[in-house]
Amino acid sequence: MPRRLHVYADPELGAYGYEEKAWYLPGARLEAFLDEARARGLTEAIDFVSAGPATDAQLQSFHTAAYVASVVSRCAKDEGSLDGAVAPIVQDAVRLLKAVSEAANAQGAANVSVVRAQLAATLAPAMSFDTYMDYLGAEQLLVHDATAGTIRLGAGAEAFLCSANPRLTGPTLARVGVERAARWICGAALDATRRILAGDHQRVFIPIAGFHHAHAAEARMYCLYNDPVLAIRHALGQLSGTVAYIDIDIHQGDGVYEAFAEEPRVVIADLHEDPSTLFPYTPEQPSEQNFPGRHEDHGRGAGAGRKLNIALAPQTTDAEYLALWTEAEAFVRASKPQFIVFESGVDGLASDPLSNQCLSTKAIDEVTRRVCALADESAGGRLLVLGGGGYELEGTKRGWCTVVEALLST
Ligand SMILES: [Zn+2]
Repeated sequence: MPRRLHVYADPELGAYGYEEKAWYLPGARLEAFLDEARARGLTEAIDFVSAGPATDAQLQSFHTAAYVASVVSRCAKDEGSLDGAVAPIVQDAVRLLKAVSEAANAQGAANVSVVRAQLAATLAPAMSFDTYMDYLGAEQLLVHDATAGTIRLGAGAEAFLCSANPRLTGPTLARVGVERAARWICGAALDATRRILAGDHQRVFIPIAGFHHAHAAEARMYCLYNDPVLAIRHALGQLSGTVAYIDIDIHQGDGVYEAFAEEPRVVIADLHEDPSTLFPYTPEQPSEQNFPGRHEDHGRGAGAGRKLNIALAPQTTDAEYLALWTEAEAFVRASKPQFIVFESGVDGLASDPLSNQCLSTKAIDEVTRRVCALADESAGGRLLVLGGGGYELEGTKRGWCTVVEALLST
């Protein structure tokens, strides 16, 4: 019997997009994919599946409650951007820090560790103290003037009280339709994972999914909620072994990496354009630093050695790409995953305006077939495929249909 594929393609997912961005119009990417799939006769072999939106509780299996509430309220206003969504929390915390520091100074009891502990207690559970330190730059948070016996805010913290701080704005616009679509996407990813693990489905494709830049308390680069992380977390709770996350989107999956950097049960193989030539070093977010997509970023603590980042030079060809892929393939195979999440972003195709690559659908086809083989080897075929990036409609629809053809024929 010929293979069949389950696909989540409700218009509610396709609505993800921005009227202001000609290359990211709501509905356009999903419609282009479905038209192409129909033209190729692929829909004959597809079973379309639906799921509703994710609940707050489901989103909070990764995202903080304060972040979800902040996204909802900011998107309801349909204005501004979300990339600085935690900025109000941070600004409140910095104001508190300033007040606590000044009180300690006034009492002659300036003690950096006491002030930090008070701040950490106040921030929880909105965001972790480490995240906060990351945000400001740990060295610049507090300055202890030993001569004067006082503490004061460092330059990094002071800068956060200034509304002109570039971190307070970003490209991820706050739109009610995007928040709704993001919930549907997460609902689909969770439903698909549940059905795959229950044995109802084996291979699933969700074209409008794979929003891998979202962090626990931060929207980043058009990503609100991180559907790959939600799916992986759910699978970790159902399985005893390793879950593999393979990401070929041309941008590194920084949100997924950060979520599982210390988790040994999540093995990550991520091929992406060198972070020194692509996001986050874009005109839209020039202030970003410390991008974790370098080869030496291989996980932390108990997760060390369980992540593989492969950075591509600009203008990488199919042959060069597939040679690099063999390292990722061997890395994943050695971990014997019980479930694989594959982020099949096609924004590395030569036609895509958001990257600097020369890839063709031949590379997408070959990698997808080999991911299928990996899933068949150790995971009982259990494979969730998330469409990821792709911002030039011709290339995107061809890329995603190439993925579907590989999933159906392998
Ligand atoms: Zn991308």
